[in-house]
Amino acid sequence: MERTLEINGKVALVTGGTRGLGLAIAGRLAALRAQVAVADRDAEGLAALPKGMTGFQMDVTRPDQVKAVVAAIVERFERIDILVNNAGVISSEPFVNVFNPDNMMHDFERFRSCLDVNLSSVFLVTSAVVEQMVLHRWKGVIVNISSISAQGNSGQTAYAAAKAGVNAMTVTWAKELGRMGIRCNAVAPGFIDTPSTRDALSPSVIKHIQTNTPLQRLGQPEEVAQAVCSVIDNDFMNGVVLGLDGGLTF
Ligand code: NDP
Repeated sequence: MERTLEINGKVALVTGGTRGLGLAIAGRLAALRAQVAVADRDAEGLAALPKGMTGFQMDVTRPDQVKAVVAAIVERFERIDILVNNAGVISSEPFVNVFNPDNMMHDFERFRSCLDVNLSSVFLVTSAVVEQMVLHRWKGVIVNISSISAQGNSGQTAYAAAKAGVNAMTVTWAKELGRMGIRCNAVAPGFIDTPSTRDALSPSVIKHIQTNTPLQRLGQPEEVAQAVCSVIDNDFMNGVVLGLDGGLTF
């Protein structure tokens, strides 16, 4: 059977790819011989990208920058086959904080900015890339990086809502775009051993998570990258939100 998406030789755009999960995903795609464009707001991180990746400075929440960078990538590589929407910011805040009676409820501005960076950004970047795919009749695949928090996580109203929205868009786009030869899936990691996880959680919370995970450990960024590449590689996978959490939730 003829494969529509062999990673070798394809052009991939990874957002937020200068560190953490994004860098691991970009690295695996490059090792599988994709041409990798990394879009991130971190200029220093872009300058330090490993060989074989091309950096583009872009804030995923800014429609003007997103359009311009997608156009620049198409100009440079002549196409985009793979989009990995990875850029995001883990954010935690209780809905009610009884220890702060003067300012007890979740701040609305922080709610809005969490949705901007974790949800609207996925809409903006995918919209700019899919426009090019459809205009040029390119087949392609979109992978959104979600989170197990989408199932609801105490202390993460905004982040959980954003990632649940990402899951909903994933399934919606799979249904709308599938007939145009564009697949859309998500990978929803649990707790992965990244600096962002270690910054967000205390050592005792991390220990508690490890104890409650059937595999008794955090995941590795390379394991998320492996899942992303499997999803890209499987031509019949469409509309799937693939959980990757060592069995913590099922
Ligand atoms: P990191 O914070 O380590 O890296 C995120 C990258 O995205 C950074 O380079 C950051 O740049 C960039 N970024 C953030 N906001 C923007 C923006 N507005 N425009 C452009 N680039 C931006 O995150 P992780 O690797 O931990 O997480 C990556 C993704 O995986 C996120 O979507 C996260 O929600 C998800 N996830 C992570 C888990 C984990 O355990 N780490 C678990 C489940 C999901 P800058 O340095 O400037 O902030």
